[in-house]
Amino acid sequence: MADHVEETNQPQRSKLFPAGFDAAGGGGALRRLPSSLFAAWPLLHPTVDEAGSGAGRSLSAARDVAAGETLLVAEAWASAVVPEQQRRVCAVCLGRLPAATARLGKKAQRRQAAKGESAAATVAKVCACGQQHYCSEHCEGCADASWHRHYACAATLNVSDDAMASAHDKSVARLILDTILRGAFPRVDTDDGPDVATSRATWDDGVLLLQSHVQDQSSEHDADILRMVLAGLQAQAVAVVSSHKGFSIDGLRPVLLLAGVSAEEVSALISCVQCNNFGVYGGEGAHAGGSLLALALFPTAAFFNHSCRPNVLRSWDAQGRMVMKAAAAVAQGTPLTIMYGELTDASYTERQAALVAGHAFACRCERCVEEQPASIGMGH
Ligand SMILES: [Zn+2]
Ligand SMILES: [Zn+2]
Ligand SMILES: [Zn+2]
Repeated sequence: MADHVEETNQPQRSKLFPAGFDAAGGGGALRRLPSSLFAAWPLLHPTVDEAGSGAGRSLSAARDVAAGETLLVAEAWASAVVPEQQRRVCAVCLGRLPAATARLGKKAQRRQAAKGESAAATVAKVCACGQQHYCSEHCEGCADASWHRHYACAATLNVSDDAMASAHDKSVARLILDTILRGAFPRVDTDDGPDVATSRATWDDGVLLLQSHVQDQSSEHDADILRMVLAGLQAQAVAVVSSHKGFSIDGLRPVLLLAGVSAEEVSALISCVQCNNFGVYGGEGAHAGGSLLALALFPTAAFFNHSCRPNVLRSWDAQGRMVMKAAAAVAQGTPLTIMYGELTDASYTERQAALVAGHAFACRCERCVEEQPASIGMGH
């Protein structure tokens, strides 16, 4: 239908959004399993609903798993440190900034540097946009930071200057911008970049994986987020154009790519990201009262389905990576589940409300079946 026309008129759009991405949402886009995605994690058996029947994707135990075994270590594919943590959390590694410097303003940092106190080791670095702090010269110099400086700085600043949106919506908008801009401007790893032996999806895989989870819902905040994302893209396009001296196809290519993003595709991404983002927590995570540090996308971790009595627990390492471990012994073939959100102490009614609002499904897990009031269970 319309697909053919769009492809002919806007060939650059298909460069950013992979074949199979459906801007109208509706899910079911993932028909294949990216071959390399779980190659490093032999305990996981991924399944994709190839017929698009709505069963989605899932993970089960590839063999008997002992309690405490590590199933997956996932690196954020895209992330945004929440505003209230930007002075405490490194934008690159999501690790804590050096405690002593987190409270130092720029003047104090300069004074410290002037006094010759080993500034390199102790002073957190700040990007010109003021929105990205780095814990070390290593993080400031790595590919992610220079990627941000060249390709995302203006968009980030534009969102933070938006006077009308809430802090949470700004975080979501920044996460979506990070996602889109990583597609438009792929990161090139440098020799001294971070050594990440984790599970990192490609842009195509990531977008399809996220979209396969799209639910037909939109939040009241979507309009605010859409406005910020489009304004951010515009600001970034202007910045990219003005930074290129003279005209060349190479110089214009990023802008052409950005121009290829339609409002419908951004809307679809907002829906994907709203459903699929994970909070990155400090210390022992939200279970132990750790604070929310960032919102991030983990396409591999998004394969885990939800249960209110999960057999997989997640925690965070010092680099902001999500570590998934078996909560108990799990027999081969058993579905592996995590808890979406923090619902351990919530009642049946509270859990159902939270899952419908945040993830658009009614939970029928073992615990919910046990706890649901008899009057509700009669219908089905
Ligand atoms: Zn860092
Ligand atoms: Zn910046
Ligand atoms: Zn449940």
